[in-house]
Amino acid sequence: MAEVSQSRLIAGTPEWLEPGLRRVLAPNPSPLTGPGTNSYILGEGRVAIIDPGPGHPEHLEALLGALAPGERVEMIIVTHAHHDHSELAPHLASRVGAPVVAFGDASAGLNPAFAALGNLGGGEGADHAFQPDETVADEAVIEGPDWRLQVIHTPGHFGNHICLAWNDVVFSGDQAMGWSTSIVSPPDGDMTAYMTSLDRLRALNARRLYPGHGAEVLDAEARLRELVDHRRGREAQILAALQQGGGAAADLAARIYTDVPPGLLPAATRNVFAHLLDLEARSLARASSEDRLRARWEPV
Ligand SMILES: [Zn+2]
Repeated sequence: MAEVSQSRLIAGTPEWLEPGLRRVLAPNPSPLTGPGTNSYILGEGRVAIIDPGPGHPEHLEALLGALAPGERVEMIIVTHAHHDHSELAPHLASRVGAPVVAFGDASAGLNPAFAALGNLGGGEGADHAFQPDETVADEAVIEGPDWRLQVIHTPGHFGNHICLAWNDVVFSGDQAMGWSTSIVSPPDGDMTAYMTSLDRLRALNARRLYPGHGAEVLDAEARLRELVDHRRGREAQILAALQQGGGAAADLAARIYTDVPPGLLPAATRNVFAHLLDLEARSLARASSEDRLRARWEPV
């Protein structure tokens, strides 16, 4: 495992991470969110809030309480339209009078090829009510008086996902975290795009990652390399299972994920399915019928 710092991670209590950066942990711990969602307050005086978090009234009060007297929120930036990141955005916006900035709504940035593939299941956690006031494109620069962010559009976990580079660190949302791998569940999730997005993050040569969940990642390159290796290893297992007779996504997951409790197999199946669609796009696997969710998959 790459090194991950052990910080205090107490919900609602602002924590200074470095000059110009505070983190406020939301009170939504779960197997999918880890300790909860990280909201970041960037700058001092006229600040940006990155990922306001889930729609919990106490988290709204915690964010407002984390501001110093006279401090003003200039902008609310949302990494992606999953409820646990975006839901509080309109409520915070109406309290502080700042615009909500994101790549787009929950349908933005999706793989257009997936629309032609029929029902792919998925859709977990998407905030379809989310509407940014302003949209930002890939490589856009967002600036405040004492901070400057570069937007990197990083679809893969979610179509409208962005990472934000600040000095030599990156706010990595749910694209890259220290404590867990990312969920990639089609059609919102796209394994082909996810791998490309990891490569783009690696090219930034960031020192540290500030993820959407869990503690900061102190060695960004080591963790990103580990995430790439993990996915390539999983892909190799799936290709081997296809060579050994193939099967439906659920069958392949049961054969590959022999060490997970049965309750986690549906999530593992979503992950295998994402890999299968990626292998199909690369002409390395094909489904025996149009109903890819249930189809038998075989090697090409
Ligand atoms: Zn997410």
